[in-house]
Amino acid sequence: MSQQQEYSIRCPKCGQEQTAQLYDAINVQTEPELRDQLMQNKINAVQCVSCASSFRVDKPLLYHDPARGILVYWVPAPAGAEATGERQFADLLLALAERQPPGIVLPAVHLVFSRLEWVERIFLLEAGLDERMIEYVKHLIYLNNHSQVDPRKKTLLFNAQDSTPENLCFVVQDVASRKLERLLHYNRKAYAELCALFAGAAQAQALRKLFPSPYVSARAVLLQTPVAAALGTAPQD
Ligand SMILES: [Zn+2]
Repeated sequence: MSQQQEYSIRCPKCGQEQTAQLYDAINVQTEPELRDQLMQNKINAVQCVSCASSFRVDKPLLYHDPARGILVYWVPAPAGAEATGERQFADLLLALAERQPPGIVLPAVHLVFSRLEWVERIFLLEAGLDERMIEYVKHLIYLNNHSQVDPRKKTLLFNAQDSTPENLCFVVQDVASRKLERLLHYNRKAYAELCALFAGAAQAQALRKLFPSPYVSARAVLLQTPVAAALGTAPQD
């Protein structure tokens, strides 16, 4: 079931305070229209009672699709606040485990920090793809196209709509302007070969080691590791 409660919020335009019913969790099996609202950027959208401007309230929100076994938790965490986001995620996991009927195993819960990543992860899981493998492909794209896709300035998002039976599609987003700039393609055969390579226990463990945090993100990994080191080149003065 979806969960909603009343929150006290403030209009970002005029400062008016008001209360609004906001979602804490959406269940798209019992309320499929909420998936459409999410894709149209209308979940937790509020209209100000004073100046009538519309805005979206960004707050932690759980997406649940029980039929497909998909659970994705969005904790809006700006760069630098990832540790807080991970703590909130740990609290959610505890709360979910307490509510779970005995004997029923909860599917994996995914953690994302931005709304775009949230939509990306839902599409990715619906397409039957593995998030660690997709982030590994992004890791390769960042390292092989460093001059054009510098992780400090650009972010890569999996694009389900423009993916074809031949190619997986990624979109390059400029971090500062948030503009979507261009599409990159990655051959599905190469992806299948990578998946086969990482099917072995040792390789699967190496993949988990590359993405140890519950926040599985190639860009976050590269920003923690100096890019020069990841590229295997000596830093220049
Ligand atoms: Zn207002």
